[in-house]
Amino acid sequence: MDLVSGMHIADILAARHPSFSFVFFPPKTTEAAGKLFESIAQLEPYAPAFVSVTYGAGGSTREMTHDLVLRLKTTTSLDPIPHLTCVCHQEAEVVDILERYAAAGVGNILALGGDPPRDLKSYNKAEDAFQHAADLVAFIKKFNDSGAHPDKRGFGIGVAGFPEGHPTTPNRVLEMDHLKAKVDAGADYICTQLFFDNHDFFDFRERCQLAGIKIPIIAGIMPITSASGMRRMAELAAGARYPAKLLRAIQRCGNDEDAVQKVGIHYATEQCHDLLDHGVDGIHFYTLNKSHATREIYASLGIRDSAAVRPQS
Ligand SMILES: Cc1cc2nc3c(=O)[nH]c(=O)nc-3n(C[C@H](O)[C@H](O)[C@H](O)COP(=O)(O)OP(=O)(O)OC[C@H]3O[C@@H](n4cnc5c(N)ncnc54)[C@H](O)[C@@H]3O)c2cc1C
Repeated sequence: MDLVSGMHIADILAARHPSFSFVFFPPKTTEAAGKLFESIAQLEPYAPAFVSVTYGAGGSTREMTHDLVLRLKTTTSLDPIPHLTCVCHQEAEVVDILERYAAAGVGNILALGGDPPRDLKSYNKAEDAFQHAADLVAFIKKFNDSGAHPDKRGFGIGVAGFPEGHPTTPNRVLEMDHLKAKVDAGADYICTQLFFDNHDFFDFRERCQLAGIKIPIIAGIMPITSASGMRRMAELAAGARYPAKLLRAIQRCGNDEDAVQKVGIHYATEQCHDLLDHGVDGIHFYTLNKSHATREIYASLGIRDSAAVRPQS
């Protein structure tokens, strides 16, 4: 097995400004895995700065994250960043996960609070070793200091940001304090929840500056590819606003799913142009394990390779 060490996120983002990256979720069936790796084969030539892999709320899907990360690492040129959450975890389990990733040369981790498991009625958050993502970040930082990772800095650490606010946080001022706590605990970058109005992102970025947050902020973009997919995602990314401009454009398509996809891709492309014009640190595409929309956006942005958009300076 090739255990070449992944790059630390600080090095990745220093070399790629703006960075382009993708997120995948672990497939649950062999057929879904086949389709994902078809998408990966189509996306790999674009040389994303990194790809991240989501983490389930519990049970066997969690091992699938590890398996997909290892498969990406050993059979592709992609640099995978696993997501890790606080949900249903004790310290010893997290140490085990970190040791396995460190041994496999995984360079970075996205540390999250995590969605509560929908099917585990007995779930009691108070029993988790880490109550908030900031605690998990601090724990990974401690692991880093132990020298168990091949990079002497240890894992690069990412955290989540919510440009429109997190749906369970009623106090938007306090919310920035919580984000700052994650950064102060040792986060190296922020990756945002998807959003459809760039003003929310730009305002979030400004509020981060005001809070003294200086790490790179990567914008999460999800092209809508079907009306049903939009509804599903609205459920998963609870609280995300769907602006009237976008909904009107989708409504105009009626039952024409092909038209919905074109409108969704066009809308996301415009968002990306605007983000790039305003000096975004990076764009993270929520691919839903498909490649078409991302490839269309890349083509419209005129990007063949992420390195091609490096500022000339
Ligand atoms: C880019 C991205 C990727 C994601 N990937 C996954 C994934 O793979 N798997 C998954 O299960 N979920 C994932 N999520 C969802 C995320 O885990 C949930 O939305 C979660 O509820 C919030 O995560 P967090 O890391 O911000 O948690 P936290 O920072 O722990 O925040 C959770 C809530 O607690 C509040 N809070 C934080 N600190 C304190 C404190 N000290 N005192 C009181 N309240 C506090 C926050 O304001 C917020 O309301 C992802 C989200 C994003 C944006």
